[in-house]
Amino acid sequence: MTENERAEIVVDLDAIAANTAVLRAHVGRPLMAVVKADGYGHGLVPAARAALAGGADALGVTVLEEALALRAAGVTAPVLSWQHVPGADYAAALRADVELSVNAEWALAEVVAAARATGTTARVHLFVDTGLSREGATPADWPGLVEAAARAQDDGAVEVTGLWSHLAYADAPTHPTIAAQVAVFEEATAVARAAGLTAARRHLANSAATLALPDTWYDLVRPGVAVYGLDPLGGDPADHGLRPAMTVRARVALTKRVPAGTGVSYGHTHHTTAETNLALVPVGYADGVPRAGGNRAPVLAAGARRTIAGRVCMDQFVLDLGDDVAAPGDEVVLWGPGDAGEPTAQDWADAVDTIHYELVTRVGGRFARRHT
Ligand code: PLP
Repeated sequence: MTENERAEIVVDLDAIAANTAVLRAHVGRPLMAVVKADGYGHGLVPAARAALAGGADALGVTVLEEALALRAAGVTAPVLSWQHVPGADYAAALRADVELSVNAEWALAEVVAAARATGTTARVHLFVDTGLSREGATPADWPGLVEAAARAQDDGAVEVTGLWSHLAYADAPTHPTIAAQVAVFEEATAVARAAGLTAARRHLANSAATLALPDTWYDLVRPGVAVYGLDPLGGDPADHGLRPAMTVRARVALTKRVPAGTGVSYGHTHHTTAETNLALVPVGYADGVPRAGGNRAPVLAAGARRTIAGRVCMDQFVLDLGDDVAAPGDEVVLWGPGDAGEPTAQDWADAVDTIHYELVTRVGGRFARRHT
């Protein structure tokens, strides 16, 4: 952090590259690095470039805008985009050579129309809902979608390059729904192959499945959170050879000595038990620091782990340091890789009853972001 900086998110791009290489070596087959949601809060384009440097074969994003932003930045690797609404700008996607996920026949018709209008062949991945009940065609609607796609492929408007689905319980590796979803996926892909969609690659595995479920790896794996060094199973990422890429820190804005019995922050949910040093940390829920962290979440400050004292406010929170001393400008680490005594995103997730995915994708606001 520079001397006049308030707070920053530091992203270790070498960690993203190294994590990608570890995952790809683990599965021994192509890998699509998921960089949606601004690279899970790590920066869309830098995260994408780092994952590609680590050996990713393709990139996955949710919305077209993210895919087009990658192209605008000069990223030429295959990109799949998968969440579209009626009227989506498929023509722009096709001109930018973006592969498109298709959930339904009406969406396929829009993609075909865009392919004809632009004189291109749309590369599509057909999504089958094998049991998450989220994206994808139900098994009942799947044969109709597959047949329409096969006709469009014969006409040259589309090339079906992928058949895919997503698991509901990948983070519970022995859950019975996994085998059930794999069985539905097998049936659905057999239907597609019988309809002539023989060249499409199959993919099903997110990070948890990439780490723990070899039966789901198929032709391509699709990890997101593990690329950023976070363990989707809630354990220690080092056990998988992964390193968290994000460190979140701020500089103390103010310190003060107060007597015993002082109420701290809105609603005085913390009272000092003795004369003590308070330190003001100038980030809050407007910056994506969860308000639920009040009196619960850990930070590293003045050489030790502390729990936030009282409520997290919009722009700041307070630490009760006891007789330990901090000076204005000293560093406070909210979370990081964890090897210098600082809490991890998993520690925060446990403290505020969420998942690290939510923490890293929401932190931002007025933090500066720096890539190393
Ligand atoms: N595939 C799809 C369809 C997703 O929605 C996601 C993210 O939620 C991923 C892959 C990557 O998941 P994870 O970050 O758990 O690896």
